Amino acid sequence: MRLGFDVGGTKTDAVVVTPSGEVVARMRRATGWGADAVVGTILALADDLMREASLTPADVRSIGVGMPGQVAAGSTVVTHAVNLGVDALDLGPAVGRALGAPVTAENDVKAAAVGAYALHGAGRAGARAMAYLNLGTGIAAGFVVDGALWRGVHGTAGEVGHISVDPRGPQCRCGQRGCIEAFSGGGSIAERWGRPGDLPVADVFDAADAGDPDAVVLRDGLVYGVASAVRILVLTGDVASVVVGGGVSALGDRLLGRVTERLETDAADSPFLASLHLADRLELLPPGSPAAALGAALVSAANGTRAAGAAVPEADIPEPDISEEKAAIHG
Ligand SMILES: [Zn+2]
Repeated sequence: MRLGFDVGGTKTDAVVVTPSGEVVARMRRATGWGADAVVGTILALADDLMREASLTPADVRSIGVGMPGQVAAGSTVVTHAVNLGVDALDLGPAVGRALGAPVTAENDVKAAAVGAYALHGAGRAGARAMAYLNLGTGIAAGFVVDGALWRGVHGTAGEVGHISVDPRGPQCRCGQRGCIEAFSGGGSIAERWGRPGDLPVADVFDAADAGDPDAVVLRDGLVYGVASAVRILVLTGDVASVVVGGGVSALGDRLLGRVTERLETDAADSPFLASLHLADRLELLPPGSPAAALGAALVSAANGTRAAGAAVPEADIPEPDISEEKAAIHG
């Protein structure tokens, strides 16, 4: 069995995954603030999950943890997880020693990409390549090829949020103008909307429906940014599908309907774009999908495994082996 965790800014999602990739138990808990509290949340959920699924520590072959921060390939150190109050946290010793199984850390969007591929991408006939587009406070994507992440040389493959799609567009925090994230990121929308409310993006869509001209500009910009991201992901990766998830995607068909309309309008002017069938490749991750926690477990399965029946190690956490992933990408 594998354990997978998706540590989010407000709650942590945890799953038990069978060797065939099936989720057999799932639990959620509020995430604590700061490195110690994050580790405490993971360990408490691991206890609960093992009890729920009647597992002992010896049944757990590997553990994957997705977090909203930077993770160097093959490292268990998560850095710059600002939404969690974590500057740097080495999950290998902190979680692996307590639970006695090898730990793999992964950026949460990349983990969700792997999970979304397992849940949606692989089901398409001949679908060897999929992109996952995460619409949250920021915008990022992940490419999955034959079930493995395509990271690029420095792990920045899929960082489409900072591609500028309008040199006169809104200022982005990265220093450019008109980035996809400046148009479509929940953080940028909230900042530019500037009115109180818990769900600024939903408020913008409501106000736009009611005819507020400022809201219409923001909503249409958001739709333009997402449609641009879909076009870029298909044109660079020729992916079979672009699966959309993340907090902003909770708008569901209110968002996807407009993005589809935008893609079809653009295609009406361009036989080339029309030939790509962009709108047909768009899919929405259902709300509450376990994609990120499942993906974290699957990434851990590809990286490091304690042999069945082997003693639970005290402190010997193996280096993740990424050769399998490389073989999948290049094969
Ligand atoms: Zn930017």
